[in-house]
Amino acid sequence: MVIFKTAQAVSHYLLQQKATGKTIGFVPTMGALHAGHLSLIEASVQQNDLTVCSIFINPTQFNNASDLKHYPVTIEKDIEQLIGASCSVLFLPSENEIYPEGYVAKHYNLGEIEQILEGFYRPGHFQGVCQVVDRLLQIIAPDNLYIGQKDYQQCIVISELVKLTGRGKETRVIIIPTMRETNGLAMSSRNMRLNDTQKQKALQLIEELSFIKENIHTTTINDLQRHAVTALEKKGFQVDYVSIANAESLQPARSKEQPLVALVAATLDGVRLIDNLLLNGGLEKPNR
Ligand code: AMP
Repeated sequence: MVIFKTAQAVSHYLLQQKATGKTIGFVPTMGALHAGHLSLIEASVQQNDLTVCSIFINPTQFNNASDLKHYPVTIEKDIEQLIGASCSVLFLPSENEIYPEGYVAKHYNLGEIEQILEGFYRPGHFQGVCQVVDRLLQIIAPDNLYIGQKDYQQCIVISELVKLTGRGKETRVIIIPTMRETNGLAMSSRNMRLNDTQKQKALQLIEELSFIKENIHTTTINDLQRHAVTALEKKGFQVDYVSIANAESLQPARSKEQPLVALVAATLDGVRLIDNLLLNGGLEKPNR
């Protein structure tokens, strides 16, 4: 695996590779890699000649200073895992490479999607995500971009960004299903901040989403949402939202005759966790 620290060096190398006809798959991450990230790498390795992973903790997408400060950093272990997964290139930029002096952030016109759910509870978060992904796509110019369904709303936002910026002409967005522990807990870098007791409690997230999925045809949407909030609060979670929503717009669902997704965000002992489950088909299978 080749490691690049500057935008110019990685762009130059990838342009040379492209000129020889090689295809490029790209997996942007913030590091603290786990099997969820590696499933994105694995899909990219299967589908492209070269796989590029970036590790960059993007300050502009953190609306909470404490979350940024406590974000786990495990770079040596990350490098070992990437080598083990046959990743070809690691891009490890400094903040100055991504946002050089004089860099002026664009405003991305995302519409309603950035006002709701994560957008509501994390103001500015999706503008930050778009800034970094747009800049990384400019540097890497991949054929395929791999993102995880774990961050469901982010998948919608990034797909929109790629359309808005016209990058869709050269880059295809590929969404990979959420990788879970055998007990169902969605893998997340933030799980590293939980002890065993807290991890056990965190299982309530997928239990409530599964309960919603099992009972969607027999119970009202309001009752299902209320049931989930109550159960999570009982476990000690502070709940931001439990939402049964249209799977494309993420607007609250009033009827069940549409593609639906259940989304949850809740904080356990200072660690904010999110998860989601499609209720009637959709992205569950890898689109390989
Ligand atoms: P992050 O490092 O949290 O920014 O995540 C980098 C990429 O990995 C994003 O596209 C995430 O959606 C994806 N990802 C994170 N956790 C998982 C998971 N458990 N399963 C699949 N993809 C994931």
